[in-house]
Amino acid sequence: MTSAQMPSAYNAADVEQRIYEKWQAKGYFNAKIEMGKEPYVIIMPPPNVTGELHLGHALEKAIEDALVRWRRMSGVPTLWLPGTDHAGIATQWAVERRLASDGTSRHDLGRDTFVETVWEHVRKFGGIIHEQSRRLGISADWERHRFTLDPGPSKAVRTTFVNLYKKNRIYRHERIINWCTRCATALSDLEVDYQDVDGYLYHLRYPLEDAPRSFITVATTRPETMLGDTGVAVHPEDERYVNIIGKNVVLPIMDRPIPVVGDEAIDREFGTGALKVTPAHDPIDFEIGERHGLEAFNVIGLDGNLTAAGGKYEGVERTEARQKVVEELGQLGYLEKIEDHRHSVGHCQRCSSVVEPLVSLQWFVNLGGPDQPDSIAGKAYAAVADGDIKVVPERFRRVYLNWLENIRDWCISRQLWWGHRIPVWYCASCQYMTVTVDDPDGCESCGSKEIEQDADVLDTWFSSGLWPHSTLGWPEETDDLNYFYPTAVLETGYDILFFWVARMIMMGIENTGQVPFRTVFLHGLIRDATGAKMSKTRGNTMDPLELIDQYGTDALRFALTTGTAPGNDLRFGENRLEAARNFANKVWNASRFVISGLEGEFGLEGWYDLPKIEHREDRWIVSRLDRVTTEVNESLRDFELGDAQQKLYDFFWNDYCDWYIEMAKLRLRSADGPSPLPTLAHVLERTLRLLHPFMPFITEEIWQNLCSKLPQEGANVESIMVAEYPNSDTPRHDASAEEEIGMIMRAIRAVRNTRSQLRIPAGQRLEAQIEVNGMRDPIEEEAEVIRALSRVEPLHIVNEDSKDADLPKGVTLVVNPLIIHLPLEGVVDLSAEEVRLRSELDDCLKNMDRVEKLVSNPNFLQKAKPEVVETEHARLQDLNERQQHLYEILEQLAG
Ligand SMILES: [Zn+2]
Ligand SMILES: [Zn+2]
Repeated sequence: MTSAQMPSAYNAADVEQRIYEKWQAKGYFNAKIEMGKEPYVIIMPPPNVTGELHLGHALEKAIEDALVRWRRMSGVPTLWLPGTDHAGIATQWAVERRLASDGTSRHDLGRDTFVETVWEHVRKFGGIIHEQSRRLGISADWERHRFTLDPGPSKAVRTTFVNLYKKNRIYRHERIINWCTRCATALSDLEVDYQDVDGYLYHLRYPLEDAPRSFITVATTRPETMLGDTGVAVHPEDERYVNIIGKNVVLPIMDRPIPVVGDEAIDREFGTGALKVTPAHDPIDFEIGERHGLEAFNVIGLDGNLTAAGGKYEGVERTEARQKVVEELGQLGYLEKIEDHRHSVGHCQRCSSVVEPLVSLQWFVNLGGPDQPDSIAGKAYAAVADGDIKVVPERFRRVYLNWLENIRDWCISRQLWWGHRIPVWYCASCQYMTVTVDDPDGCESCGSKEIEQDADVLDTWFSSGLWPHSTLGWPEETDDLNYFYPTAVLETGYDILFFWVARMIMMGIENTGQVPFRTVFLHGLIRDATGAKMSKTRGNTMDPLELIDQYGTDALRFALTTGTAPGNDLRFGENRLEAARNFANKVWNASRFVISGLEGEFGLEGWYDLPKIEHREDRWIVSRLDRVTTEVNESLRDFELGDAQQKLYDFFWNDYCDWYIEMAKLRLRSADGPSPLPTLAHVLERTLRLLHPFMPFITEEIWQNLCSKLPQEGANVESIMVAEYPNSDTPRHDASAEEEIGMIMRAIRAVRNTRSQLRIPAGQRLEAQIEVNGMRDPIEEEAEVIRALSRVEPLHIVNEDSKDADLPKGVTLVVNPLIIHLPLEGVVDLSAEEVRLRSELDDCLKNMDRVEKLVSNPNFLQKAKPEVVETEHARLQDLNERQQHLYEILEQLAG
């Protein structure tokens, strides 16, 4: 242990790396299997392998590290498993962008060379995020790190695919999918961003086959798709159309007869009540088409150009085709009108291109739904509905269940080259599909060597959906899997509840028969100080590494988790960071004071357990510590990290520093009675341990210094990281000490308030008389504290019957059961003070009136930014408090 003097200021940069390396070298991060003890496991959400640390990651890791440090210190075998995701589309897109700037493309390179190029990119930039995460001081088990493309997780992916295929839960089918023509891949519903855009509603006339002068008018936002229409749908009870259901209309331009069908899904109120049906290019039309046996064929191809089915428009780009089709319809007299129309259009989340729904041959997982209890989605629904998995905060439980109630089959194939390739081989001789975990030598059916693997890869979420069990070794029955699975908590942002959390629940239950985790804990998103979403385009992002350089890791972590409540978004700005740094400095300075006082002292024996404490102040601070210990453990159990932190902050700053240390200084000076040093040390040492999960570095540094000055007692361990987390197994509540010291603190505060209201200089001593009313002992024993901390001299301690009734005019303070009289005549000009206070009260009331009117003005409430409204409310609150104080002091002056 180091016994060097603590420097006068805490310098995070000098401390953090040294401590982190020591923790790692000692193996504290590595989880050990301890049979008979239930482990605590968090699988870290795997970031994109080439990603960089942003503030959202920092929040997530600060929360998870606090939880695992708390459990680990509580003696629970704890595993926090880190990893990275290959992030199929994101990584491929990043490399493609680079190739494009070099004037080449993946197609020029060919598949093998391209995949090798991506691997090079990953080797070069991969894992940077973990190097960055280390600076956050996170205690992850790096030896168990996994990458989604590692052999283990890859085998898990193939095994899952093969199992599902054999159970008929994976199928290949023509389906309408979201297609990005730029990325040339299918997108899941979740990868499509919908934005409202200003467009047009085109009203088209389709002539009836048997009465060419009569028309049915359909409305569409995408007139070019009419080339692929295979029907017109109306509501079966719509009187306008009931006579033509079953007849044909002739599709203009294409001159193709298509049927009019009656379908209950048609909204009679929308447009003309007649819907053109293009099954290949609209998901709703696709379903109508399936119900009525209408053909589905693409008129827009994978490249965004019209196909041969588009007739004379073959090869024309889709937006250009729109203009040409509208022009021709106009010339033919089939265009009734064009209206302005704002509507929602899907865009590729990755590249922002307009998504093209089209029909293609894809692989799907049949998920079923809550109405089929044995289906994949049915079991995932029940796991949460029945409470096998708890969702924190509770409101997201309903969100999850609603989503599963409306779930569709999952399209898992992606037309990418980077990722887990689909383990299906097609036979050229007999068309049989060989589906196996290991690469086959030939066709399973006819033995032909002419087999070719499916060109597509699996959706990234297919592999991350297996993460909690694939990282622990599944499908092998490893010791880790047996011991650490199911995991305890899955902690992530609420924005990936569906993307990821729901899929882990589905796949976890499917593969292992057990839920993947017992609790889902969702944190909120970080916004800037004004409440706006942080984004690079807005320019309001903050780089966590720069913040660490500027404020230190502990301050950044403390700032991030201050005031966090599960699921609530967080406003983050410099003021939080400054407050957190001030707190870190307070912890350092107060500790330094205490530790320097211990130097060379004797009589510290017993500091660890304090077997007998007699002094009221010692009993009080130990009782307060005990209460805070209970509360912090409770808050952590409830995932209320913000509350836990706030309680520790208040306890350390107010109770320990502002009161107890000040009281102890007086005792140290007078050297009467029992020394406060053992208690000072005891409370500091425990508070450091309580704080450690939130501020790992500074607490370790101070703790090492503190312990080097103390006799070795208690659990003799070499790091705070492996010291026991304080709990309240042996309660040390002391109601009378809390009541008596509480009363003395209130009395001192009352005198201090009066002094500041009346602007009495800090150095000036006031005479005071305290009427004790049954509290003589505590007041007499704490008289020195009262004298020193409220700067009164002389202090007369009196009973009701012995008080001096003829005290000069002054202020009387009632602090139940005490009555404190401060004679002020000759000290301050009481009548002048009264005049001044009355005019201050007048101003205060005027201001209150103004702000009250403002915040009840509907016009203001509507137009002002929320943060401005909030500021005004806070101002009103302040004025109100000020007003009460002024009334009080004026009343006291009058009395
Ligand atoms: Zn795209
Ligand atoms: Zn074959």
